[in-house]
Amino acid sequence: MSVLPPEFPGLMGHRVAERSRQRDVVFVAVVVAVSVVSSVIFTIMLAPPEPQAFIPAVIIPLCVSLPVSLYLVRLRRRIEALNRELIQLARHDQLTGLLNRAAFAADVAATGEGGALILIDVDQFKAINDQLGHLAGDFAIRELARQIAGALPAGAMAGRLGGDEFCVFLPGLGLDAGLAAADALRINIAEVEFSHEGRIIDLTISAGVSNLVAEDTLDLAIRSADRALYHAKDAGRNLVRPGQGEE
Ligand code: GH3
Ligand code: MG
Repeated sequence: MSVLPPEFPGLMGHRVAERSRQRDVVFVAVVVAVSVVSSVIFTIMLAPPEPQAFIPAVIIPLCVSLPVSLYLVRLRRRIEALNRELIQLARHDQLTGLLNRAAFAADVAATGEGGALILIDVDQFKAINDQLGHLAGDFAIRELARQIAGALPAGAMAGRLGGDEFCVFLPGLGLDAGLAAADALRINIAEVEFSHEGRIIDLTISAGVSNLVAEDTLDLAIRSADRALYHAKDAGRNLVRPGQGEE
């Protein structure tokens, strides 16, 4: 997910870059013009000058203000790029690139919409770590995240809540549609073959689905989905269950 600078809300990609370039050109032009004009005025005020006195009055401020303003533009661009990197780091899970828990909660709240919430947990993930090693486990988590992200419809969002637990929010969808989406994902994950360093990783997931009502907190919906997930695990895993009171 790209993070755009916030100064130009509503503009995307190349339009933001174009506006940013225009702003830089205006900045450099204003700095150079102000320094040259003020130098000329200062020269005139000091003493009615000979015509050749205007040459250093123009050249000197030009030679100083142009490189300084260009340097400031480069500095500002660097700071903006670092800012974007920081926002990216603060919002995303390092292993998978999905939203982290806090960013997921913030983005869900920002939609102001209700929808279906899917809580996903890998089945017997400890066994993958134990049998194939932690790196294979990391690989499985990354691949699973890729599958989840690839299955998201437009407007949906996914986050890694931690460990082998993921969360998907489908705005505007009811419980039944959420259950159907979770089950399609579950079937897909069970069918896909993950292969790490020549070894096949058999992966299944269980999921709990709840209905997030717009006025409710995300925590409430996660708690309900978590109870449903527990039922899915208890009933044998590789299953999807609806949240309590929502059957
Ligand atoms: P269950 O079917 O009940 O979920 O069994 P499980 O073995 O998956 O149990 P649980 O979900 O509680 O265990 C998650 C494990 O995931 C525990 C931890 O060792 C492992 N884990 C957590 N984060 C990471 C990670 O970033 N990389 C790897 N490789 N393993 C992780
Ligand atoms: Mg698990």
